[in-house]
Amino acid sequence: MEYIESTNKEDRCIFCIAQANQDSAENLIAHRGERAYVILNRYPYTSGHLMVVPFEHKAGLEELDPVTRAEMMELTTRCMTVLRKVYNPQAFNMGANIGEVAGAGVKGHVHLHIVPRWRGDTNFMSTLGTSRVLPELLEDTYQRIKNGFQKP
Ligand SMILES: [Zn+2]
Repeated sequence: MEYIESTNKEDRCIFCIAQANQDSAENLIAHRGERAYVILNRYPYTSGHLMVVPFEHKAGLEELDPVTRAEMMELTTRCMTVLRKVYNPQAFNMGANIGEVAGAGVKGHVHLHIVPRWRGDTNFMSTLGTSRVLPELLEDTYQRIKNGFQKP
């Protein structure tokens, strides 16, 4: 089974691939911290659906060191600050699906979702990870979010 041995599992992880590429509307990384980064969800629930991802490929929060976890929470908070400036949402959903049974799309690489919400959109938990028709192109969202992170 040589082909299995030669296939590095981490090479196929979308988060590991994204962070190995240059930041643009292609890889969708809007901001990089020291140990974690902010990326747009390619199949967003609402415009501005962001994810905070550690650089390390670990399946669970408990496998990360405390400094990385702390930075992830700081980045999550910054995501909300930027989203408030750019989209003026009425509310947020924030959370994680950890493990396949919980509905994780990428189960080997833990990530936090930050979803801006407006009255009248539908339930977050039941539709997270499904593609929806959006009022804005992903490239436009990317530029707006990226600019939001560059301004203090
Ligand atoms: Zn990974």
